[in-house]
Amino acid sequence: MSEIDLPEDHPRYQSLLTRHRIEEGVENGITSKQGLIAEGRGEAFDYLLGEETIPSADEAARAAAAQLLLADHPVLSVNGNVAALVAAEIVDLAAAVDADIEVNLFNRTEERMKAIADHLREHGADEVKGLTADGRIPNLSHERAKVDADGIGAADVVVVPLEDGDRAEALADLGKTEIVIDLNPLSRSAQTAAIPVVDNIIRAVPNMTEHAVDLRELTPAELTEVVAAFDADAALADAEAAIRRGER
Ligand code: ATP
Repeated sequence: MSEIDLPEDHPRYQSLLTRHRIEEGVENGITSKQGLIAEGRGEAFDYLLGEETIPSADEAARAAAAQLLLADHPVLSVNGNVAALVAAEIVDLAAAVDADIEVNLFNRTEERMKAIADHLREHGADEVKGLTADGRIPNLSHERAKVDADGIGAADVVVVPLEDGDRAEALADLGKTEIVIDLNPLSRSAQTAAIPVVDNIIRAVPNMTEHAVDLRELTPAELTEVVAAFDADAALADAEAAIRRGER
């Protein structure tokens, strides 16, 4: 099935498209088999959220955009699911907030690193970091700790979508301001984040880009106010309540 064969008015269009992209990602050596399982978990939460961006997630996306515009050295971290689902959208967000893009894998193999970097370049990325791997995140095992010293290693703000809890915690311990995109408000990654965006990445990334374009003219003081007005605990509680109500 190609993307063109999916009728856009199908009630589960977005979910089918997502599944299709992940399947294709696995076939192309971009997404790991574990990525398929992560996708299934995400889909269940998205179903309960009504497969839409809830208002508190939109506020989080706006605060995230403001935080990225304020950053000195923002980096967007990309894994196999992120590349399969939103390669072009990540490139757009990076351009809107002047961020680096770095491939960062839980199960790192040189082959998959290269496949993802190539895929991002095919979708418009000029420079893709992560292949040098000359930096380390302390308190993680060797392979999982690898980052580029001049990428995530030097970043002040990192966007880590669909990240596992250990790495999210280790990055936060390093003093990086973390923006997490994760559909599970109870995951350790979401709980660790300065700004958790509880939304499907296929909606969250373009939404953050739109907000960044809208916020671009604000002064640093005004951007700081947008970030300060965001309450991470309240956003997580709101997403959990929406999931528990399951009013779709
Ligand atoms: P943690 O280690 O953070 O407690 P976990 O073990 O569930 O949680 P992983 O399986 O490594 O973490 O990461 C997958 C996470 O990504 C899950 O929380 C899942 O809900 C989320 N996820 C999967 N697909 C998407 C998507 N398309 N958009 C947003 N989040 C997603």
